[in-house]
Amino acid sequence: MTEPERRLKVLFVTSEAAPFAKTGGLADVSGALPRALRERGIDVRVVMPLYAGFDWNALQRLEGTIRVPMWWGVARAGLRLGNLPRSDVPVYFLEYHRYFDRPHLYGPPGDGYPDNLERFTFLSRGALEVCKALNFFPDVIHANDWQTALVPVYLNTVEWAKPLHAAASVFSIHNMAYQGVTDGGAMFVTGLGREHYNSSEFEHFGSLNLMKAALRHATLLSTVSPTYAQEIQTPAFGNGLDGVLRERGGDLVGILNGIDTEEWDPATDPYLPANFSAEDLSGKAACKAALQHEAGLPVNPRIPLFGVVGRLTSQKGFDILANCLEQILSWDAQVVLLGTGDREAEHFFWSVSSRRRDRFRAWIGFDDGLAHRIEAGADFFVMPSRFEPCGLNQMYSLRYGTLPIVRATGGLADTVHGYHQESGEGTGFVFHDLTPDALASTVGWAVATWYQRPAHVQSMRRRAMAEDFSWRHEAEGYERLYLDAYRRRRGHPLEGFRPAPPAHGPVPASVAKRRSRTKRR
Ligand code: ADP
Repeated sequence: MTEPERRLKVLFVTSEAAPFAKTGGLADVSGALPRALRERGIDVRVVMPLYAGFDWNALQRLEGTIRVPMWWGVARAGLRLGNLPRSDVPVYFLEYHRYFDRPHLYGPPGDGYPDNLERFTFLSRGALEVCKALNFFPDVIHANDWQTALVPVYLNTVEWAKPLHAAASVFSIHNMAYQGVTDGGAMFVTGLGREHYNSSEFEHFGSLNLMKAALRHATLLSTVSPTYAQEIQTPAFGNGLDGVLRERGGDLVGILNGIDTEEWDPATDPYLPANFSAEDLSGKAACKAALQHEAGLPVNPRIPLFGVVGRLTSQKGFDILANCLEQILSWDAQVVLLGTGDREAEHFFWSVSSRRRDRFRAWIGFDDGLAHRIEAGADFFVMPSRFEPCGLNQMYSLRYGTLPIVRATGGLADTVHGYHQESGEGTGFVFHDLTPDALASTVGWAVATWYQRPAHVQSMRRRAMAEDFSWRHEAEGYERLYLDAYRRRRGHPLEGFRPAPPAHGPVPASVAKRRSRTKRR
């Protein structure tokens, strides 16, 4: 008799997931990775807050309430159930209006709500109460970023000697720049005793640091690209936690994010005025003309069009772009930018936009459809990031045949192959120095390539579009990580588990190369 197959059970806790609530890449990951895990046969369930701003009526309201212990007493939360689109992955929404029925997820732009520690204490503690209410005892709980950093800590403390204590925890870092830092005096809000406010757990240079506690308590750690996994162990990228990460360097793995290849598919994308594929690029030309028209720029297929989309923050290097924009606009090229963030940056790009209507257009705001149209209509995509844990836009660009111009950092270094002028090899343009000169020279190189070596642009485009950045392959990396974490926690492997067959079809060379780098050192 064959042993019954044992499914791996995973709870995925996140503060945002597309399409329900999104401020950045974490939402894209949370909306897509669980689906890919589900396709591998993993019983994965998602828990997140119920925010204002989307149609709650589509969700099923579950009977009863969840009792979440808080510092001030017990919060009675509602629970609603939905699915990640195009899947049967359950998403449990914790409903507690006092904390989440607000205009923003974390606070107005550039600011956090003063009670964020309390709000995300509620999410982390509430996620564990959801497990108990559903009688779902996961093998692994996967927490993401500072908002859920308390999950691994609670498993080792308030759940000690209780059934959930058996669950291993994986903590994923999506961005070291946000660590959930607050005043040490607020320790009581976590519901944990003052004794946990010590330099091995929450205390970090005189403040309470949620991420530090997670880095210490989680069974295993991951981040979203192999290069970033190395970078954050250095002072330049570790934002003060590089020492902690070095100590746990053997438990940290970098797994490149995938992209949602259904949502981002130029052949079917409903946001586009015309669809296209590597075999037939005529639709891309139509997208370019439509984008030039939408931007109020001269509609001309011969002028190279550069696209930029992203949060206007120092991370994304927009100050570097600001400092060389005039030089770029002195060439025969057009630039369109969509972003929101720092007020100063918004004002700067908006003012250049009103002055240079001939070559530059900025949209200040968040607009999913426009982001898709820029990815499709532009010829090149600019990402001068100061640091980039993974970055998704460059992968969307590659898939849409829009050649990325990136700084060699984090996931950008792992996904874009630099152009080689002699051979014509490459999928984009890569530069190293974080200076306006380096960025301008690289944009200039792209402009020159466009005018002087159009055959190279065409072949790079085809190569870029053939790359496979789907989650299929990277989900395998997470499965291995979960199984490792389980083994660590329990002291034995998950018995009866049979891994799904490898992702369909042969692994493309670029993916094979990336995967070989995701192994833990
Ligand atoms: P991060 O998470 O650091 O913001 P990523 O590149 O990982 O960066 O993900 C950013 C995601 O947010 C992408 O899907 C991108 O298209 C989207 N995005 C960023 N800014 C905007 C905007 N102003 N309008 C629409 N989408 C945006």
